Amino acid sequence: MRETRSSAAAAAVAAVPSPVAPSAAAATTSSASALLTHPHLPHNMHDANEMMHAGATLLHDAAVESVEAVKHATAHAIDAMATASKTATDRAHHLVERVEETVHNIFALYSFHHIPDWLRDNDFIIGGYRTQMNSFRACFNSMFYLHNETGNIYSHLIGFTIFLVAACCAGYGYLSQHDFADQAVFWIFFVAAMICLMMSTLFHLLFCHSPRMYGVFSRLDYTGIAILIAGSFYPFVYYCFYCHETSRVIYLSMITILGVACAYVACSPKYDGVAFRTTRMLLFLGMGASGLLPVAHYTYLYGLAAAVNTSSLDVLGIMALLYVSGAVIYVTRVPERFFPGKFDYWLHSHQVFHILVVAAALTHYYGVYTAMQHRKEFQCSVEQSILGLSSLVGGADQNTSSVFVPSSEF
Ligand SMILES: [Zn+2]
Repeated sequence: MRETRSSAAAAAVAAVPSPVAPSAAAATTSSASALLTHPHLPHNMHDANEMMHAGATLLHDAAVESVEAVKHATAHAIDAMATASKTATDRAHHLVERVEETVHNIFALYSFHHIPDWLRDNDFIIGGYRTQMNSFRACFNSMFYLHNETGNIYSHLIGFTIFLVAACCAGYGYLSQHDFADQAVFWIFFVAAMICLMMSTLFHLLFCHSPRMYGVFSRLDYTGIAILIAGSFYPFVYYCFYCHETSRVIYLSMITILGVACAYVACSPKYDGVAFRTTRMLLFLGMGASGLLPVAHYTYLYGLAAAVNTSSLDVLGIMALLYVSGAVIYVTRVPERFFPGKFDYWLHSHQVFHILVVAAALTHYYGVYTAMQHRKEFQCSVEQSILGLSSLVGGADQNTSSVFVPSSEF
């Protein structure tokens, strides 16, 4: 009987729900167990009632403790949720601010006076500037909206595409029928033109990334110009001195050395500032002007008429005029100099310079292509042919039988 009562009371105590405050329930259960195992357990109904009353009191206290624990836990949970909610809200606000700032940096355009000093190059262009972006992705995205570098980017990107298509057409077309040397000099020119135009495109697209990237891509841009000038010489000198190996080797060596020297200066961080802008341009003009040396030599050997006809010097003269005009426009900043702010987006001097560079390179290509056609038709008798001694009256056989031998082996 004593065992049965003890078991029932213990079961009643154990049945008290305490999922939220297990420590309080455990303490209560422990107290009830101590009571039920007390050595003086009751032996009549009165004692049993007292015992039941004491048990009920303990259960009540346990319930009160559990309710308090639940209240405490609930309050704590509400505080935690409020804190988490505030943190999440703050983070969301911060994220929105970052997105707004990024969007602003990507699409916003600035005036000359609101961009960093290192981005200021031409104070006749008043607006339409991108600012420092610190992101290559943002720089690349700037291809898809209008700013004052859009024309510079696309003028040389389109030029690059034209030369890529021309190189593929030539490589799979007429060049495939010529020997290795012909193919080599043309490929040197094609690759040089494409390198120059791609370097320029990348510079204008990416220079707003940061001052460091401005320096890197500026140097690559100038290196590309040196490569184009040197690459343009190869087919020209090759066909001018087609029958004069010594002169050909000397001039090709000269332009290679000059090209490497110019590329070295272009790559040197010392010369990439705005302060050296005119110096760099003069250096490259000097390199281009060195082409006058083989022209003068060839004209001296065969006379002006022969030089013009055999080596397309007239076409190459137009090419030189385009390059020089572009360089003069670039340095003098015409037309925006006379109408500040009116040419911010289209047709400012740098864009015109770019267009003239592409036009000059294409003119050069046409010139050396024509020179190659002459050489392939007349070989080393071409000079005499042009002098009127045979081509007007006969074909290649007559030319060959009356080959003109210049007074100098050079
Ligand atoms: Zn440029």
